[in-house]
Amino acid sequence: MNDFDKYFRPEIVGMAPYKPGEQPGAAKVIKLNTNENPYPPSPKVREAIVQATERLERYPDPLATSFRMVAADVLGVTPDHILCGNGSDDILTILTRAFVGTGQKLRLPFPSYILYRTLAQIQGACYEEIRFAPDFQLAVPFFDRSEGLKLVFLPNPNSPSGTLIDHETILRLASSLDCPIVVDEAYVDFAPSHAVGLIAKDPRIMVTRTLSKSYGLAGLRFGYLVAHPQMIGLLRKVKDSYNTDSISIAGATAAMSDQAWLKENVAKIIATRTRMIPELRRLGFDVTDSHANFVWATRSDRPVQPIYEKLKSQGILVRYMDYTQSVAGAWGDGLRMSVGTDGEIDALLMVLKSIL
Ligand SMILES: *Cc1c(COP(=O)(O)O)cnc(C)c1O
Repeated sequence: MNDFDKYFRPEIVGMAPYKPGEQPGAAKVIKLNTNENPYPPSPKVREAIVQATERLERYPDPLATSFRMVAADVLGVTPDHILCGNGSDDILTILTRAFVGTGQKLRLPFPSYILYRTLAQIQGACYEEIRFAPDFQLAVPFFDRSEGLKLVFLPNPNSPSGTLIDHETILRLASSLDCPIVVDEAYVDFAPSHAVGLIAKDPRIMVTRTLSKSYGLAGLRFGYLVAHPQMIGLLRKVKDSYNTDSISIAGATAAMSDQAWLKENVAKIIATRTRMIPELRRLGFDVTDSHANFVWATRSDRPVQPIYEKLKSQGILVRYMDYTQSVAGAWGDGLRMSVGTDGEIDALLMVLKSIL
């Protein structure tokens, strides 16, 4: 405890900080811990960014209209269905601030993206963490109405499992509850289908997206929300005026315009994922079928934390997830490994063979 604590809101002093995955300085590390794309983005992104540097004395377009027009075309919605942000984490912050007041409740599944919890805590809100069923489908209490429940976050595909909830279930969830449902589609480009079409069926369903994973632009910081235009209109009041900058708008617009790059990139990553999963199973891991650019691997015969440590000492960084302690009850632990390039995954498999 230091003297400054007394100046802060008690929820800030009391909360644990969100811990992003490690970003090691050493270039030689094989980095499979934060689900970045292992390949560089479309070359058109760089060109667009260079052009944007010629207008830096001007403020950016507060609504990132160039991006919204391209994205609307790709998704089959109108630009008024889209709100842009400084990464989808910014969008998740805007949603939490807009819908969940002090003492009100946000619902999220467990285990899933840890940031949702942090957002609730900063807001002085409560969170209901509801355990997934063992097969990572939504358990019955997830559909229960609850006093003061104002927002639901549902990552789909989920992290760390890479599993999917089907669209019928999402619609049933929305009709069971009296609050907006945010489907966090950070990894959806690696999955067979997306939920944007559900917005027309139930306007309380909203979809968040990011360019950090499938477009290879984690360093650029650009994400967006797809929702009913009236929802978007109200949410604009909550965002910072200039929450995306000229450089990120230019880069994101170019990336979204190059759908051929996206298709090729996703095909490469899915091919590597398809090869990686049976290899890991052969090495004794229990691996969940994945619809994302990472896999979730556990073991029943031995602890996985030493495997994580040994990989790290040999220059391969994966994410060790410890879910043995939670208000929602213990889940166990495992390794979440991003799908890297073929060469990176070969190196991973080789080191694992020597460790095990
Ligand atoms: C990576 C990730 C995001 C955040 O992406 P940014 O756009 O980089 O902020 C959001 N949700 C989930 C589930 C993620 O894994």
